Amino acid sequence: MTEQEFQEEFISYGFDAAYVCPHEPEEGCECHKPRPGMLQKAATEHELNLRHCAVIGDVGSTDMLAAAAVGSIRILVETGWGKQSLEKYRHKWYEQASPDYVAKDLLDAVKWLIGNNS
Ligand SMILES: [Zn+2]
Repeated sequence: MTEQEFQEEFISYGFDAAYVCPHEPEEGCECHKPRPGMLQKAATEHELNLRHCAVIGDVGSTDMLAAAAVGSIRILVETGWGKQSLEKYRHKWYEQASPDYVAKDLLDAVKWLIGNNS
């Protein structure tokens, strides 16, 4: 799947935008998580205050660290790599970027956010 196909697929689901880092980690770009470049790009393009945004992800050492770097709300889902992130790889991220909420799955994450913001 090309970057453009990926973006078109997400937009077809109703997302405003989708971002992809096309680089390898050793290229040292600003968008490869845990660097927060994609979040900052989205913030610029959509006039978002990242401190009022939530990052939902399954990888602590990338998603949660990127979220912490820009002060976003952090939600780790237990699906995907989530359980391993919390257990086996916890030492790589938890101290700097512990999640505000650990969700069973994406639906649980969204329900928590709605409840948290009402
Ligand atoms: Zn990149």
